[in-house]
Amino acid sequence: MKTAVVVSAHSADFVWRAGGAIALHAAAGWAVTVVCLSYGERGESAKLWRQPGMTLERVKTERQGEAERAAAALGVADIQFWDLGDYPIGLDKQALFRLVDVYRRVRPGFILTHSKADPYNHDHPAVTDFALHARVTAQAHGHNPGEPVLGAPQVFLFEPHQPEQCSWVPEVYLDIGSVWDRKRAAIECMAGQGHLWDYYTRVGQQRGAQAARNSDKPIVWGEAYQRVFPDVRDALA
Ligand SMILES: [Zn+2]
Repeated sequence: MKTAVVVSAHSADFVWRAGGAIALHAAAGWAVTVVCLSYGERGESAKLWRQPGMTLERVKTERQGEAERAAAALGVADIQFWDLGDYPIGLDKQALFRLVDVYRRVRPGFILTHSKADPYNHDHPAVTDFALHARVTAQAHGHNPGEPVLGAPQVFLFEPHQPEQCSWVPEVYLDIGSVWDRKRAAIECMAGQGHLWDYYTRVGQQRGAQAARNSDKPIVWGEAYQRVFPDVRDALA
C-alpha cells in the first residue's frame, strides 16, 4: 500500500494547508498518517479561550475532537496527537527519534510539512526543520543499525498563512476539485477557528485558477506546495 506522512505543528494545520492532498491520496487508496505534534492550545485556540470557565485540558480535548472529525472527513488512516505544547513547541531529541520511528515504519512515498520561514509563527518553521532532521536521521545507517533505512521521499512544504512573508513559492499545484467537498467538510470541523473557513476557501479558488493557467486544464480548486529536494524524472515531459 502507498503511504504518506503529514507532520503538522498544531492540530488544525493539516486541514487548511493539506486537506486536499490528504483527501485526494486517501481516495486513491493511500494510507495517510497525520502527526499532530501539538494541539495549538496556547496560540491557535483564541475562540475556545473566550468561553467562560475554559481550562487547558478542555481546550486540548476540544481541539483533538475537531481534528479527529476533520481527519475522518478526509479519509486519514492514522492520526496521532503528541501533545508537545505550543508557543513554543517542545521538539526534543526523544520526539525526533519518535518521528524517525514513524518514518521508518510507515516508509512514506512523500512527506508534507510547513514552510521554512514564518515570522508570524515560530512553531511552524521549527517543525519544518524537525521533520527534515528526522528524515535524514531515518536515512542514517548508524541510527538503530540493522533497521531498514528510509529512502528519499520528497518533502512538500504546504502553504503558510501569508506566503509572501514566508519565502514560500508555489512549485507544485494539485487539482483537488474531486475532493473539495471533503476539504470544506474538514474545514467546518474546526469550530474554534471559524474566521479561517472562508479565507482557505478563497486560497483553494486562487490556487485552482493558477493551476488551470499553468496546465491548460479546467481546474477550479487547487492546493500548492513548495519542494525541498530536486525532482528526479525519467523524462522532461
Ligand atoms: Zn499552526
